[in-house]
Amino acid sequence: MAVPKRKTSPSRAGMRRSHQALIPQAHSECANCGELKRPHNICAHCGHYDGREVVAAGKALKSAVRV
Ligand SMILES: [Zn+2]
Repeated sequence: MAVPKRKTSPSRAGMRRSHQALIPQAHSECANCGELKRPHNICAHCGHYDGREVVAAGKALKSAVRV
């Protein structure tokens, strides 16, 4: 089994982890109800997209759209 020759220094570990920062999710306001939603996605609150109701708001929406 391959074994590292040297202990990873705190500096090296920090350099490796410099790419691990979490990116905040993009969001926009629903034009119909004002609730925050993901851009280019159906509003999970009211089921509207592009000014019209696409999916009836309720239980069925949660299985149809991943929020
Ligand atoms: Zn909405």
